[in-house]
Amino acid sequence: MKHKKVVILGSTGSIGRNVLKVAAGFPEHFTVVGMTAGRNIDLLRQQIETFSPRVVSVAEEDAALKLKTLLGPGRQTEIVWGQKGNEQVACLTEADMVVSAIVGAAGLLPTFAAIRSGKDIALANKETLVMAGRLIMDEVKKKQVRLLPIDSEHSAIAQALEAGRKEDVARIILTASGGPFLHLAEENLWQVTPEKALDHPNWDMGRKISVDSATLMNKGLEVIEAHWLFDIALEKIEVLVHPQSIVHSLVEFIDGSVVAQLGIPDMRVPISYALSYPERLDTGLSRLNLTECSNLSFLKPDTNRFPALQIAYEACKTGGCMPTVLNAANEIAVAAFLEGKLKFPEISKVVRETLAHTKYMDDTDIETILDVDRLARIESAEVVRLMTKHAVRAD
Ligand code: NDP
Repeated sequence: MKHKKVVILGSTGSIGRNVLKVAAGFPEHFTVVGMTAGRNIDLLRQQIETFSPRVVSVAEEDAALKLKTLLGPGRQTEIVWGQKGNEQVACLTEADMVVSAIVGAAGLLPTFAAIRSGKDIALANKETLVMAGRLIMDEVKKKQVRLLPIDSEHSAIAQALEAGRKEDVARIILTASGGPFLHLAEENLWQVTPEKALDHPNWDMGRKISVDSATLMNKGLEVIEAHWLFDIALEKIEVLVHPQSIVHSLVEFIDGSVVAQLGIPDMRVPISYALSYPERLDTGLSRLNLTECSNLSFLKPDTNRFPALQIAYEACKTGGCMPTVLNAANEIAVAAFLEGKLKFPEISKVVRETLAHTKYMDDTDIETILDVDRLARIESAEVVRLMTKHAVRAD
């Protein structure tokens, strides 16, 4: 395999840490030349000491100053900060591949910059494709770079699609674990705490995606991600709940053949696939024992208890900037839920109301996307404010 120089955007996160584990296991294949993080300076410092990247970016200037002090004189790594810093690292001349693993809308601009500077992308930050799927895919084609998914479902679909021609695909079936509240009665969803929502049955993930998994918004975002990534009509993308998270997704072809990818639920598998594509690495991870999988089940998602999935389908169908609004409103609502301001079922309500208050706009360019994102955050914060005010009065 050709040696790859890799940049990791979001190195201190759940995905970022797993990417570093994979890279550390194969020093003959990967060198980490750049990293970015938000505020976790202590972990970032350890990562710098282990991997000696050439440039590192953090979110704020004060974090950059603190990091420089912690590292002390003599350390070769250049420290930069802010949006400009993120983009500088995303475009490092020597990098072959950029892993996009920042959470949320903050991942959009550095990922876009990396594509524009001709880097192959290993994409975990699904929000990038939700916010600006058409623009991103246009740029991917223009620059002829590879966009390889890290999301386990999309990694599964990418692998299954290799079994046939795109025009012979009948449908894509994305699997969803169903999250921690799969069997919880609708009225009990009002008592769900952030702590319970963060306790995912199969995956150990960051806070935002854990809540998205619990509401099923994560699957909604993934439907939109799949639509853009694989250029597949929305009507051909279905979701099935598969609580065991063993079958990571499936592709049905027109002859009735269904091709699936299976594996243990460990993000290092899709990460190593994206990093090493088109080759594969012997990850040394435990293998799937099929005799222990006698109980694989698949069920239709309950969109009454978990309306977020349907809301995401509708936003994607309307098109234009509506998925950008969906994403922004969801980020605001999830943050409000984690702060204890919103009840769990209100997350979807905030997203639905924000979409209802927003006028359709075309996804003309990145500046428009950023404007719509900013306005949708203001609107959804207002929806949260009114909803919580109302709740206090009702109490
Ligand atoms: P985490 O919350 O664990 O990590 C997020 C990373 O982004 C951290 O490195 C964080 O830095 C950084 N970050 C956050 N805000 C900013 C900002 N404003 N500027 C720069 N950096 C920032 O998230 P995950 O790793 O779980 O998820 C990352 C992405 O991958 C998400 O889009 C998620 O949907 C996707 N994904 C995650 C999976 C998983 O298993 N975790 C599976 C599939 C997709 P710091 O911590 O230093 O503040």
